[in-house]
Amino acid sequence: MSEFERISDHIYVMHAEHTTDRPLLAAVAGSSRTLLIDGGNSAVHAAAFREYLEKEGVRAPDMMVLTHHHWDHSFGLAEWSLPTIAQRQTANILRNFSELEWNGETLERLIAEGVISERTKADMLAEYEGDLSRIRVEGPNIVFERFIDVELGDLTCEIRYVGGDHSADSCVVYVKEEGTLFLGDALAPSVYGGPMKYTTGKFLALLDTVFAYGANVLVESHGRPVSREAFYNDVRRYEQLARLVLRHGRDREAVERDLYTELELPETEALPNDMTEAITYFMNGLEQ
Ligand SMILES: [Zn+2]
Repeated sequence: MSEFERISDHIYVMHAEHTTDRPLLAAVAGSSRTLLIDGGNSAVHAAAFREYLEKEGVRAPDMMVLTHHHWDHSFGLAEWSLPTIAQRQTANILRNFSELEWNGETLERLIAEGVISERTKADMLAEYEGDLSRIRVEGPNIVFERFIDVELGDLTCEIRYVGGDHSADSCVVYVKEEGTLFLGDALAPSVYGGPMKYTTGKFLALLDTVFAYGANVLVESHGRPVSREAFYNDVRRYEQLARLVLRHGRDREAVERDLYTELELPETEALPNDMTEAITYFMNGLEQ
């Protein structure tokens, strides 16, 4: 069930849906321009958000930015027919994707190459109701390397390339006057080409970048928008864990022991599931 929300004076979102891996889409409406953040995973996904924006009387999007190339964020692009901003690596990958014929064979090859996963295939088949020939991929047409600012009229969006484990082309979008930071999937572990992993160096560097914004609201593409306090409380645990992995390396027992102490968990209690998972990801990210 699609869910829409106006999260501030100028920001409208379509929340993430997990059944077919639809990420959150956002429209940032300034006094003279509207910027769309991510294009959606299909024409149907894109159309649902556009209808909501029309109903709310929001100025139709004038341009779009992609947070990274992954299908769930980019395959809806063609449906919007908008000038689209993306980091150079994102643009290169989507250009390659746009030349493919999308069918079962292509998906199998991309899985074998570690470009997508079995999970992606299942989600794509569900989103496109089994008809992969409906997939239409287009590349972006405004390409940047590190930073680009977009003026929307009394609102500025600062787009910044950050990279990271999840996808080497990840970018974040900061709506300056609203203090809202869109993180895309930048803080998630890698999902393709081997077991899911976090590398301590990349993760900690990324957190420094994110904290430096001092944003009031933080938005991850597959989660709910959260306050600074809620975000910091959650993510600090991952930061503590990353530092313990730096200290102890592969000694998982020592990492777990110190994590209990740092999180002030009673010994009788099991580690929270997300922490157990994250330890595995960080272990996978250690040099062989
Ligand atoms: Zn992603």
